[in-house]
Amino acid sequence: MTGTPGRPDRVVLLNPGPVNVHDRVRAALAGPDECHREPETQALLGTVAGKITEVCGADRDSHAAVLLTGSGTAALEAVVSSVVPAGGRLLVLDNGHYGERLLRIADVHGIDSVRLEFGWATPLDLDAVDRALAADPGVTHVAVVHHETSTGMLNPLRELGALVDRHGRSLIVDAISSLGAEDLDVVRDRVDWCVGTANKCLEGMPGISFVCAPRERLDALADVPARTFYFDLSANYRAQVLKGSPQFTPAVQVLRALDAALDLTLAEGVPARTARYAARAAEIRAGLEERGIDLLLPADQRAGSITNAHLANGMTYDELHDGLKEHGYVIYATQEKSAGVFRLANMGQLTASDIAGFFRAFDEVVARCAPSPS
Ligand SMILES: *Cc1c(COP(=O)(O)O)cnc(C)c1O
Repeated sequence: MTGTPGRPDRVVLLNPGPVNVHDRVRAALAGPDECHREPETQALLGTVAGKITEVCGADRDSHAAVLLTGSGTAALEAVVSSVVPAGGRLLVLDNGHYGERLLRIADVHGIDSVRLEFGWATPLDLDAVDRALAADPGVTHVAVVHHETSTGMLNPLRELGALVDRHGRSLIVDAISSLGAEDLDVVRDRVDWCVGTANKCLEGMPGISFVCAPRERLDALADVPARTFYFDLSANYRAQVLKGSPQFTPAVQVLRALDAALDLTLAEGVPARTARYAARAAEIRAGLEERGIDLLLPADQRAGSITNAHLANGMTYDELHDGLKEHGYVIYATQEKSAGVFRLANMGQLTASDIAGFFRAFDEVVARCAPSPS
């Protein structure tokens, strides 16, 4: 592997997380050894939770963030399994792989759910959601993925939040691949349960995920019997937020790295990060289009951090992936239902020269794999 110029050890990650991180984030991992029950580490949990709340657009007095040690799915499972009471019903809006995942989590826990399926890479139909809610007063919660990472589609959270609020239901949002890089404000968008992770657009290390919610909603969970032990959101909230001491051992070093990543996020500001990601995405999209490669989605449906493109030149995904990896660039396959498509994410600390270098490598790989003229 050759890596990038001047940084032979650096691989450019064009997968949707984990991402290339800032040196300050990596350095934070190598801090002193510490015990999670000591006051300075307990204080760190509170500091990180406060910064997450801020990135979500909420006030620390009205909202709290509960941290879990585990990848993004850990926090999703904590929310889905903890907030829908027995006798409640979850409406899942499904237009991709991660929408399906929400349903599978509900199924595992025996939670009554209804699926509103739109199809992969198909926008949500808000009128259909409106009708489904009007027709079924038994639905207590609605779950949606903000950025459906499988297709790169950004779902219209603001409009959906207003709709769900109008029907008086509670909204669960998987914001795992949008928080930090897309316009999201849990108060304005009326999100009750906002789920995120350290290692995507917040540019931290993998291992910590979290839920940001209004404190009164978290308090009310005390009345909902737990379905899991480790992922019991109420118990984690009471220990971590109300008593100030985590229920279990958190990934302390990953938390230190997340703290550094959140400082960088807040210093940059979400709008500036959105613009930085948009610049990288525009370079990627222009480079693909110049090469005659078709993109999966129309421009107005795309999130700012992923581009899904059709494989061309008779190349297989494996040929493209393996060839690029030899040059130090990691691309990403797509999930089951869109064969013949590959993904390029631009989350993390990427520069214009990373993208330019990627296309130089891309051209070499394509030229090498192209069938020789007969
Ligand atoms: C990455 C991602 C997840 C979680 O994946 P993990 O591997 O558990 O971190 C969930 N939802 C979306 C939309 C994602 O992009």
